[in-house]
Amino acid sequence: MMQPFLFVTDLDNTLIGDEKALEKLNATLQSYRDQYGTKIVYATGRSWFLYQQLFQEQPMLTPDALISSVGTELYFDLQQGEIDQDWVNLLSQNWERSKLVKLILDEFPELTPQSNSEQGEFKISFHLAEETAEQTITKLKQRLAETNLDVKLIYSSGQDLDIIPKQADKGLAVQFLQQKWNMNDSQTVVCGDSGNDIALFSTGTPYGILVGNAQPELRQWYQRYQTPYRYLAHENYAAGILEGLAYFQFINAFNLNSTENH
Ligand SMILES: [Mg+2]
Repeated sequence: MMQPFLFVTDLDNTLIGDEKALEKLNATLQSYRDQYGTKIVYATGRSWFLYQQLFQEQPMLTPDALISSVGTELYFDLQQGEIDQDWVNLLSQNWERSKLVKLILDEFPELTPQSNSEQGEFKISFHLAEETAEQTITKLKQRLAETNLDVKLIYSSGQDLDIIPKQADKGLAVQFLQQKWNMNDSQTVVCGDSGNDIALFSTGTPYGILVGNAQPELRQWYQRYQTPYRYLAHENYAAGILEGLAYFQFINAFNLNSTENH
């Protein structure tokens, strides 16, 4: 009898990118969810609002949980769209949002706030030009330390700076779900394509699938920290995910052009 597993995937350019392959993956995951209680989780940088947009446009399954806004929001009820209260309580510890905003607006004019839709209770997001990023982040870290504001800074795509609570990110949200559902790393597989998925791959030791179209920064990281529990797929997007799930034997490979015996 197959064991249930916890399936976690990034959305843009990981799950999403090849509609035909996505439909095939959906059918496989749905049948494993029905038969064995497999859990399906999306982990995205998107806000709740931008996730809803994508969900309308793409043939996506309704997940068992959604981790959104770079791991600062966690939803179980996708209809109501209410953030899980246990998660809110966890992230609220030592999080002083208004103090953070004031410090930055007063002292860091080079940080310009992103639009309101990208701001969250546990995520403060700015634009920051690549040329000045290193200098600004160093100075900001120093000021945060001096004022005892213990937070996490995530700089991505050479333009976005997110300030989030220490207890938040995609990987820590997955650990929260593992505890809730009583599943361990050997029953967990995470999928991604870019540098902002590294927290997903490197928190604990879950199985990891990098889709074939993974960005250079993630490939370099993969090469540097190679381990048998991470796999760089040949196929892109959802086809790469299917390939990886079969490689790790989370699913049977008989329908994936494989002659291997499982
Ligand atoms: Mg992505």
